[in-house]
Amino acid sequence: MSASDPSCIFCKIVEGKIPSRKVYEDDEMLAFHDINPWAPVHFLMVPKEHIASMAQVEDRHQALLGRMMALAPRLALQEGCRPYPQGGFRIVTNTGAEGGQEVQHLHVHVMGGPRPWAKG
Ligand code: AMP
Ligand code: ZN
Repeated sequence: MSASDPSCIFCKIVEGKIPSRKVYEDDEMLAFHDINPWAPVHFLMVPKEHIASMAQVEDRHQALLGRMMALAPRLALQEGCRPYPQGGFRIVTNTGAEGGQEVQHLHVHVMGGPRPWAKG
């Protein structure tokens, strides 16, 4: 059902062709640890469908993106972020070259944990 791009590294992770440290999975999305973390907690949430970036999001993706945003706080706590307001987390989605996007499959970075962080 989900469109996949055979040359896309995150599609390969979704399909299990490249290993990942999984945080969460359901029919429509996958969350896994970033291989090069900027923060003590750093995982990525991706739709299983190959959507290149936020710039390609369509109305039909509204529910999925809403579910990702609603799930992020729970996964952040599960992965070790301390509760709001002393703890918390950062959500980032880089989009396009000038947005700093390196992997062309929509992903939400969720970062948190004690300061200082490696970046950001
Ligand atoms: P961006 O610059 O927003 O496109 O971020 C891409 C992120 O994907 C970077 O933080 C990378 O460390 C991460 N990344 C790249 N390859 C992998 C991989 N095989 N497993 C987990 N994370 C990855
Ligand atoms: Zn992809």
